[in-house]
Amino acid sequence: MKVSLMSLKKSALYLNPRAGTMVDMAAKAGIAAAAAGSTIRETDLLYVSDAYRRQSDAEVVAVDVEHGVVLDRTAFFPTGGGQPHDTGQLTFAGTRATVVDVSKDEAGVVWHTLSPESPIPAVGTHVRGLVDWERRYLVMRLHTAQHIMNGIVWRDFGAHVTGARIIPPEARLDFELDAMSQGLGRALEEAINEVVHQDLPVRAVWLPRLEADRDPSLMRLKANLIPRSIDPLRVIDIVGLDRQADGGTHVGATGEVGHVRVVRTESKGKANKRVRIALEG
Ligand SMILES: [Zn+2]
Repeated sequence: MKVSLMSLKKSALYLNPRAGTMVDMAAKAGIAAAAAGSTIRETDLLYVSDAYRRQSDAEVVAVDVEHGVVLDRTAFFPTGGGQPHDTGQLTFAGTRATVVDVSKDEAGVVWHTLSPESPIPAVGTHVRGLVDWERRYLVMRLHTAQHIMNGIVWRDFGAHVTGARIIPPEARLDFELDAMSQGLGRALEEAINEVVHQDLPVRAVWLPRLEADRDPSLMRLKANLIPRSIDPLRVIDIVGLDRQADGGTHVGATGEVGHVRVVRTESKGKANKRVRIALEG
Protein backbone atom coordinates (compact mmCIF):
# COMPACT_ATOMS: atom_id res chain seq x y z
CA MET A 1 0.00 0.00 0.00
CA LYS A 2 2.85 2.31 0.94
CA VAL A 3 4.48 1.74 -2.43
CA SER A 4 1.39 2.52 -4.45
CA LEU A 5 0.73 5.70 -2.45
CA MET A 6 4.30 6.80 -3.04
CA SER A 7 3.99 5.99 -6.74
CA LEU A 8 0.81 8.00 -7.02
CA LYS A 9 2.47 10.96 -5.41
CA LYS A 10 5.53 10.67 -7.61
CA SER A 11 3.70 10.36 -10.88
CA ALA A 12 1.42 13.21 -9.83
CA LEU A 13 4.52 15.38 -9.71
CA TYR A 14 4.93 14.99 -13.45
CA LEU A 15 1.49 14.20 -14.79
CA ASN A 16 -0.57 16.68 -12.82
CA PRO A 17 -0.44 20.15 -14.39
CA ARG A 18 -0.86 21.67 -10.91
CA ALA A 19 2.42 20.14 -9.82
CA GLY A 20 4.34 23.33 -10.56
CA THR A 21 4.92 24.00 -6.87
CA MET A 22 6.75 20.73 -6.45
CA VAL A 23 8.98 21.47 -9.42
CA ASP A 24 9.67 24.96 -8.00
CA MET A 25 10.70 23.32 -4.75
CA ALA A 26 13.05 21.06 -6.71
CA ALA A 27 14.51 24.06 -8.50
CA LYS A 28 15.07 25.86 -5.18
CA ALA A 29 16.80 22.80 -3.83
CA GLY A 30 19.17 22.94 -6.80
CA ILE A 31 17.69 19.86 -8.40
CA ALA A 32 16.99 19.78 -12.10
CA ALA A 33 13.52 18.37 -12.53
CA ALA A 34 11.41 17.55 -15.55
CA ALA A 35 8.92 20.24 -16.52
CA ALA A 36 5.48 20.05 -14.92
CA GLY A 37 2.92 18.40 -17.14
CA SER A 38 5.51 16.47 -19.15
CA THR A 39 5.35 12.71 -19.14
CA ILE A 40 8.26 10.39 -18.54
CA ARG A 41 8.67 7.45 -20.86
CA GLU A 42 8.25 3.94 -19.46
CA THR A 43 11.59 2.64 -18.15
CA ASP A 44 13.32 -0.09 -20.18
CA LEU A 45 13.42 -3.02 -17.71
CA LEU A 46 16.65 -4.88 -18.42
CA TYR A 47 16.03 -7.58 -15.77
CA VAL A 48 12.98 -8.84 -17.69
CA SER A 49 15.10 -10.29 -20.51
CA ASP A 50 18.28 -10.89 -18.48
CA ALA A 51 17.97 -11.57 -14.75
CA TYR A 52 21.74 -12.05 -14.51
CA ARG A 53 22.53 -8.52 -15.61
CA ARG A 54 24.08 -6.71 -12.65
CA GLN A 55 25.14 -3.41 -14.21
CA SER A 56 24.03 -1.05 -16.93
CA ASP A 57 24.86 2.35 -18.35
CA ALA A 58 21.94 4.73 -18.48
CA GLU A 59 20.89 8.35 -18.71
CA VAL A 60 19.02 10.27 -16.01
CA VAL A 61 15.65 11.39 -17.39
CA ALA A 62 14.08 12.82 -14.20
CA VAL A 63 14.76 13.50 -10.54
CA ASP A 64 12.45 14.65 -7.74
CA VAL A 65 12.67 16.32 -4.35
CA GLU A 66 12.53 12.98 -2.55
CA HIS A 67 15.90 11.84 -3.95
CA GLY A 68 14.08 9.83 -6.62
CA VAL A 69 15.95 9.26 -9.89
CA VAL A 70 14.49 7.92 -13.14
CA LEU A 71 16.84 6.35 -15.71
CA ASP A 72 16.00 5.48 -19.31
CA ARG A 73 16.92 1.83 -18.59
CA THR A 74 17.60 -0.16 -15.44
CA ALA A 75 18.75 -3.54 -14.16
CA PHE A 76 17.28 -2.73 -10.70
CA PHE A 77 14.17 -4.71 -9.79
CA PRO A 78 11.38 -2.56 -8.27
CA THR A 79 9.29 -4.03 -5.42
CA GLY A 80 6.44 -6.13 -6.78
CA GLY A 81 4.77 -9.53 -6.83
CA GLY A 82 6.13 -10.38 -3.38
CA GLN A 83 9.72 -9.79 -4.51
CA PRO A 84 11.65 -7.02 -2.71
CA HIS A 85 13.41 -4.23 -4.60
CA ASP A 86 17.11 -4.39 -5.33
CA THR A 87 19.69 -2.22 -3.63
CA GLY A 88 22.96 -0.99 -5.12
CA GLN A 89 24.72 2.08 -6.42
CA LEU A 90 24.70 4.66 -9.16
CA THR A 91 28.15 5.96 -10.10
CA PHE A 92 28.67 9.13 -12.10
CA ALA A 93 31.33 11.83 -12.49
CA GLY A 94 33.65 10.12 -10.00
CA THR A 95 30.95 9.98 -7.30
CA ARG A 96 28.82 7.21 -5.89
CA ALA A 97 25.17 7.32 -4.81
CA THR A 98 23.47 4.58 -2.79
CA VAL A 99 20.15 3.18 -4.04
CA VAL A 100 18.00 2.39 -0.98
CA ASP A 101 14.59 1.82 -2.59
CA VAL A 102 13.24 1.05 -6.06
CA SER A 103 9.58 1.27 -7.08
CA LYS A 104 7.62 1.28 -10.33
CA ASP A 105 4.65 3.63 -10.75
CA GLU A 106 1.49 2.88 -12.69
CA ALA A 107 2.96 4.49 -15.81
CA GLY A 108 5.78 1.92 -15.83
CA VAL A 109 8.38 4.45 -14.67
CA VAL A 110 10.99 3.08 -12.25
CA TRP A 111 12.08 5.38 -9.41
CA HIS A 112 15.46 4.75 -7.76
CA THR A 113 15.49 6.42 -4.34
CA LEU A 114 18.96 7.54 -3.23
CA SER A 115 20.07 7.74 0.39
CA PRO A 116 19.79 11.25 1.94
CA GLU A 117 23.58 11.75 1.96
CA SER A 118 24.02 10.67 -1.68
CA PRO A 119 24.86 13.15 -4.45
CA ILE A 120 21.93 13.62 -6.87
CA PRO A 121 22.75 13.38 -10.58
CA ALA A 122 21.26 16.06 -12.83
CA VAL A 123 18.89 15.21 -15.68
CA GLY A 124 20.99 14.20 -18.70
CA THR A 125 23.84 12.73 -16.61
CA HIS A 126 25.22 9.38 -17.75
CA VAL A 127 25.32 6.97 -14.82
CA ARG A 128 26.34 3.38 -14.27
CA GLY A 129 23.91 1.33 -12.17
CA LEU A 130 25.38 -1.49 -10.08
CA VAL A 131 22.99 -3.94 -8.44
CA ASP A 132 23.99 -5.43 -5.07
CA TRP A 133 24.44 -8.86 -6.59
CA GLU A 134 24.82 -10.99 -3.48
CA ARG A 135 21.39 -9.91 -2.25
CA ARG A 136 19.72 -10.08 -5.67
CA TYR A 137 21.08 -13.56 -6.43
CA LEU A 138 19.80 -14.86 -3.08
CA VAL A 139 16.39 -13.36 -3.93
CA MET A 140 16.47 -15.05 -7.37
CA ARG A 141 17.20 -18.42 -5.73
CA LEU A 142 14.46 -17.92 -3.11
CA HIS A 143 12.00 -16.80 -5.78
CA THR A 144 12.72 -19.87 -7.89
CA ALA A 145 12.34 -22.06 -4.78
CA GLN A 146 8.87 -20.51 -4.32
CA HIS A 147 7.96 -21.53 -7.89
CA ILE A 148 9.15 -25.10 -7.28
CA MET A 149 7.08 -25.35 -4.08
CA ASN A 150 4.11 -23.72 -5.77
CA GLY A 151 4.37 -26.13 -8.72
CA ILE A 152 4.42 -29.16 -6.44
CA VAL A 153 1.48 -27.97 -4.31
CA TRP A 154 -0.51 -27.18 -7.48
CA ARG A 155 0.32 -30.55 -9.03
CA ASP A 156 -0.43 -32.59 -5.90
CA PHE A 157 -3.25 -30.57 -4.26
CA GLY A 158 -4.53 -28.15 -6.93
CA ALA A 159 -4.25 -25.35 -4.34
CA HIS A 160 -4.05 -21.68 -5.27
CA VAL A 161 -1.61 -19.24 -3.69
CA THR A 162 -3.16 -16.58 -1.47
CA GLY A 163 0.05 -14.71 -0.65
CA ALA A 164 3.76 -14.63 -1.49
CA ARG A 165 6.63 -12.77 0.10
CA ILE A 166 10.42 -12.81 0.01
CA ILE A 167 12.24 -11.27 2.96
CA PRO A 168 15.85 -12.48 2.72
CA PRO A 169 17.03 -14.88 4.05
CA GLU A 170 13.52 -16.38 4.00
CA ALA A 171 10.59 -16.68 1.60
CA ARG A 172 7.03 -17.74 2.23
CA LEU A 173 3.94 -18.82 0.34
CA ASP A 174 0.37 -19.02 1.62
CA PHE A 175 -1.82 -21.73 0.11
CA GLU A 176 -5.55 -22.23 -0.02
CA LEU A 177 -5.33 -25.49 1.91
CA ASP A 178 -7.48 -26.72 4.78
CA ALA A 179 -4.63 -28.50 6.52
CA MET A 180 -0.83 -28.32 6.57
CA SER A 181 0.79 -30.75 8.97
CA GLN A 182 4.46 -30.86 9.90
CA GLY A 183 4.59 -34.17 8.08
CA LEU A 184 3.31 -32.50 4.94
CA GLY A 185 5.98 -29.82 5.38
CA ARG A 186 8.68 -32.48 5.48
CA ALA A 187 7.26 -34.24 2.42
CA LEU A 188 7.14 -30.90 0.61
CA GLU A 189 10.78 -30.21 1.50
CA GLU A 190 11.79 -33.58 0.11
CA ALA A 191 9.83 -33.02 -3.11
CA ILE A 192 11.34 -29.53 -3.59
CA ASN A 193 14.88 -30.85 -3.18
CA GLU A 194 14.15 -33.63 -5.64
CA VAL A 195 13.35 -30.94 -8.24
CA VAL A 196 16.52 -29.02 -7.27
CA HIS A 197 18.49 -32.22 -7.82
CA GLN A 198 16.88 -32.72 -11.26
CA ASP A 199 18.34 -29.33 -12.31
CA LEU A 200 15.37 -28.50 -14.57
CA PRO A 201 15.71 -25.50 -16.94
CA VAL A 202 13.81 -22.34 -15.89
CA ARG A 203 12.73 -20.20 -18.86
CA ALA A 204 10.81 -16.99 -19.34
CA VAL A 205 8.42 -17.21 -22.32
CA TRP A 206 5.92 -14.71 -23.72
CA LEU A 207 2.39 -15.88 -24.46
CA PRO A 208 -0.30 -13.90 -26.30
CA ARG A 209 -2.95 -13.00 -23.70
CA LEU A 210 -5.67 -14.82 -25.64
CA GLU A 211 -3.66 -18.03 -25.48
CA ALA A 212 -2.70 -17.53 -21.82
CA ASP A 213 -6.34 -17.00 -20.85
CA ARG A 214 -7.16 -20.47 -22.15
CA ASP A 215 -4.93 -21.96 -19.44
CA PRO A 216 -6.27 -20.81 -16.02
CA SER A 217 -3.47 -22.74 -14.26
CA LEU A 218 -1.06 -19.98 -15.33
CA MET A 219 -2.76 -17.56 -12.92
CA ARG A 220 -1.72 -19.17 -9.70
CA LEU A 221 -2.62 -16.32 -7.38
CA LYS A 222 -6.12 -16.78 -5.95
CA ALA A 223 -6.86 -13.12 -6.66
CA ASN A 224 -5.75 -12.68 -10.25
CA LEU A 225 -4.17 -9.23 -10.23
CA ILE A 226 -2.87 -9.18 -13.79
CA PRO A 227 -4.68 -6.43 -15.73
CA ARG A 228 -6.41 -7.39 -18.98
CA SER A 229 -4.27 -4.90 -20.85
CA ILE A 230 -1.06 -6.90 -20.23
CA ASP A 231 -0.41 -8.64 -23.55
CA PRO A 232 1.67 -10.67 -24.15
CA LEU A 233 1.99 -12.28 -20.76
CA ARG A 234 5.36 -13.29 -19.32
CA VAL A 235 5.28 -16.88 -18.15
CA ILE A 236 7.96 -18.61 -16.07
CA ASP A 237 8.35 -22.21 -17.21
CA ILE A 238 10.11 -24.71 -14.98
CA VAL A 239 10.33 -27.22 -17.80
CA GLY A 240 8.38 -30.36 -16.96
CA LEU A 241 7.04 -29.08 -13.61
CA ASP A 242 5.20 -25.79 -13.70
CA ARG A 243 4.27 -22.70 -15.72
CA GLN A 244 2.92 -19.49 -14.23
CA ALA A 245 2.51 -15.85 -15.15
CA ASP A 246 5.14 -13.78 -13.36
CA GLY A 247 7.22 -10.60 -13.62
CA GLY A 248 10.06 -11.40 -11.22
CA THR A 249 13.67 -12.58 -11.52
CA HIS A 250 14.63 -16.25 -11.33
CA VAL A 251 17.72 -18.44 -11.77
CA GLY A 252 18.25 -20.34 -15.04
CA ALA A 253 17.96 -23.89 -13.65
CA THR A 254 16.54 -25.40 -10.46
CA GLY A 255 19.97 -26.76 -9.46
CA GLU A 256 21.16 -23.19 -8.80
CA VAL A 257 18.64 -22.87 -5.95
CA GLY A 258 20.62 -25.28 -3.77
CA HIS A 259 19.24 -27.19 -0.80
CA VAL A 260 15.90 -25.87 0.42
CA ARG A 261 14.70 -26.18 4.02
CA VAL A 262 11.10 -25.83 5.14
CA VAL A 263 11.62 -23.63 8.20
CA ARG A 264 8.05 -23.70 9.45
CA THR A 265 4.47 -24.44 8.47
CA GLU A 266 1.69 -22.49 10.15
CA SER A 267 -2.02 -21.95 9.90
CA LYS A 268 -3.14 -18.44 9.03
CA GLY A 269 -6.80 -19.33 9.28
CA LYS A 270 -9.28 -21.55 7.49
CA ALA A 271 -8.10 -22.51 4.01
CA ASN A 272 -4.92 -20.45 4.47
CA LYS A 273 -1.71 -22.28 5.30
CA ARG A 274 1.72 -20.69 5.29
CA VAL A 275 5.03 -22.37 4.46
CA ARG A 276 8.33 -20.61 5.21
CA ILE A 277 11.47 -21.72 3.42
CA ALA A 278 15.19 -20.86 3.59
CA LEU A 279 18.26 -21.95 1.62
CA GLU A 280 21.27 -23.80 2.88
CA GLY A 281 24.62 -22.83 1.46
ZN1 LIG B 1 8.48 -15.70 -10.11
